[in-house]
Amino acid sequence: MKQPLLLPQDESNQTLLRNVHPPGWENPEPARCYNLVVIGAGTAGLVTAAGAAGLGAKVALVERHLLGGDCLNYGCVPSKALIRAARAIHDIRTSHEFGMAEVAHLPIDFAAIMERLRRVRAEISLHDSALRMRDEFGIDLFLGEGRFLGRDFMEVEGRRIRFKRAAICTGARPGMPAIPGLEEAGYLTNETVFSLTRLPSRFAVIGGGPLGCELAQAFARLGSQVSLLEPGGHILSREDPDAVQILQNSLREDGVQLCLESKILRATRRMGEKIVCFEQEGVTRDLPVHEILVGIGRVPNVEGLNLQAAGVSYDPKLGVKVNERLQTSNPLVFAAGDVCFPYKFTHTADALARILIANALFMGRQKSSALVIPWCTYTDPEVAHVGLYEQGARARGIEVHTLTVPLARADRAVLDGETEGFARIHLRKGTDRILGATVVARHAGEMINEISLAMTAKLGLSAIGKTIHPYPTQAEAIKMLADTYNRTRLTPFLKKILSGWFRWRRW
Ligand SMILES: Cc1cc2nc3c(=O)[nH]c(=O)nc-3n(C[C@H](O)[C@H](O)[C@H](O)COP(=O)(O)OP(=O)(O)OC[C@H]3O[C@@H](n4cnc5c(N)ncnc54)[C@H](O)[C@@H]3O)c2cc1C
Repeated sequence: MKQPLLLPQDESNQTLLRNVHPPGWENPEPARCYNLVVIGAGTAGLVTAAGAAGLGAKVALVERHLLGGDCLNYGCVPSKALIRAARAIHDIRTSHEFGMAEVAHLPIDFAAIMERLRRVRAEISLHDSALRMRDEFGIDLFLGEGRFLGRDFMEVEGRRIRFKRAAICTGARPGMPAIPGLEEAGYLTNETVFSLTRLPSRFAVIGGGPLGCELAQAFARLGSQVSLLEPGGHILSREDPDAVQILQNSLREDGVQLCLESKILRATRRMGEKIVCFEQEGVTRDLPVHEILVGIGRVPNVEGLNLQAAGVSYDPKLGVKVNERLQTSNPLVFAAGDVCFPYKFTHTADALARILIANALFMGRQKSSALVIPWCTYTDPEVAHVGLYEQGARARGIEVHTLTVPLARADRAVLDGETEGFARIHLRKGTDRILGATVVARHAGEMINEISLAMTAKLGLSAIGKTIHPYPTQAEAIKMLADTYNRTRLTPFLKKILSGWFRWRRW
């Protein structure tokens, strides 16, 4: 498979490459046998390899492209750098509320924004560097494509590597929609969009998932005329409908044209432009743009690994099949991260890697199903979630008590001019046991953590209520959920008894 190049070849990208794919790297002579061979050096692979080596295991790590994988090179890191720049510009543009004179035209230097993106990415890449893996952790790093040759051995660049245990951490790649003409018209994915040096003035984003929403908003704020095409009736298909509504309004305010329930018929190229032809409400429309970004989901990287030779079962769409202990159909081979798990996030890849080490090397019995997994879409406002949704809980036959506090009730949100959003929690009815929560706020990704902690530690909402939150903070909205819950416990009968008691005390 041809891997995309890292462009442009400036100083920052050269630093990045020196760290995550050093030119002229010489693979070591393989040891007689490894305790653990890790294939893929994204988050899952790096955490697995470094964790195991740190505990004294003899570890080989195999990477065919860039250490750091998607997160560092084409995912979380560059996208959040871009989002930060877009937020700064948005804040300036809307700062008349705080007394700044309105600016008619904001000169935006897109090339400088992307230069900063490459610079901070290169800075961060030091954590994932080849030299660090070799010198700090004592890992044998092999650059090249890894493929299994048998149940307990594999090869990379003509070298045979024998193992006691192997970890498949090969991640995922962008899924491609079957749109006639798209290949010829040309398109961007997350692997190429961060290489742009010129802002596309008209931009089509295909897919209203987290990636599509984050980048559509960011590019709109940077000055692109963005159209977001989504086949469903709304964006972020799995999120709370109220959260979705707020975000759709916010995207529209930023100038994103939301084309919901749209079916793309074809793409063509015409006089230097790309035309996306789509149908919406029975009407066919041509959308002329300068760039098309495809963000419709991720496909696991299982091809080329020769998994049959190792006796590892997989599904081309769902990835490597693992049990709850992350073990594949070959008991010697485990998997972690996007290649085998439906929740495709860096923090889940990290958490699964830790489970993998315990189970593969120490006969652990840890289960992936026991994880409490939060996530966040880094739009403005952010949409963060953990645990069950109300509908999901009801579908499981659980009686739910849902509480919501609008963000406007937190003084800090009012002071900051960031009242758009809410904190919502789902409790098992009749108890304070937290089933799940959604937070919509500018920094919802930070706010959700205390709820995740409570769920992980099996603390009820009352524990959050007893926790002093500094005033004024937006996280007070979460404490207010607990106050609201406590008020619901004061039944009319209990209130009557209390009133009687107070009357008696006044005598
Ligand atoms: C635009 C974007 C933004 C994102 N933002 C966030 C975010 O904000 N927060 C978050 O939590 N998650 C985010 N994600 C998701 C996150 O990036 C992934 O979940 C995470 O990178 C998965 O890590 P991984 O190790 O499983 O796979 P990867 O990072 O994909 O790593 C797999 C590695 O395996 C290598 N490989 C594959 N096959 C072979 C082979 N045969 N031999 C050798 N090497 C091989 C690949 O080259 C790659 O380096 C984002 C994703 C995208 C695309």
